[in-house]
Amino acid sequence: MTGTTNPNRATPVVAVVPFERVPTTAAKVIAAHVSGYLNLAAETLPPRTIPPDTLDPGRLQYNAASLIQAIEAIPLKNYFKVIALFDVDLFIPLFTHVFGEARQNGRVAIVSLFRLESHADGSSPPSDRVLERVAKIALHELGHLLNLLHCDDDRCLMHFSGGVDTLDQTTFNFCRYCRTALHRALRQGGPVTKPP
Ligand SMILES: [Zn+2]
Ligand SMILES: [Zn+2]
Repeated sequence: MTGTTNPNRATPVVAVVPFERVPTTAAKVIAAHVSGYLNLAAETLPPRTIPPDTLDPGRLQYNAASLIQAIEAIPLKNYFKVIALFDVDLFIPLFTHVFGEARQNGRVAIVSLFRLESHADGSSPPSDRVLERVAKIALHELGHLLNLLHCDDDRCLMHFSGGVDTLDQTTFNFCRYCRTALHRALRQGGPVTKPP
């Protein structure tokens, strides 16, 4: 990849797509965080139905890789990146579940509210906490779409969170190192206005 930008390329827009019963508020909160933290335009699209054959009949969870593949095949204009939002349980083989998943440097990330709607002890958090969690996951997965790797700094958004407790400790912040990598990726991937 070269560091040159194409002056004819349109302003990159991130699409947030809710699937089925996902509350619109959650999609809008994600879009607001994407534009607020990454200075990218973000659009919330109308809800869609979950692609068939992505439910694993044995696990009764949705296969994250199959979902990403199915969404990549949906003709969605020329969006720079797509964040698909679900309220069903997602998994990848070897893991009991995932909060979200994205292919490194890919176009489509998926995020689910399913595991974010309860605390580790099973009690229910207030709804603003759930929205905060889903926004953190979305920014983390978008980081992967911009080719960022996991970060050792446990306050950074690119830190890997296996549980809601660690996720709650993460701040709404990319560390210095990740922020530099993000800005580099955005310069290469699409023209943006000055980094914040
Ligand atoms: Zn990750
Ligand atoms: Zn970091």
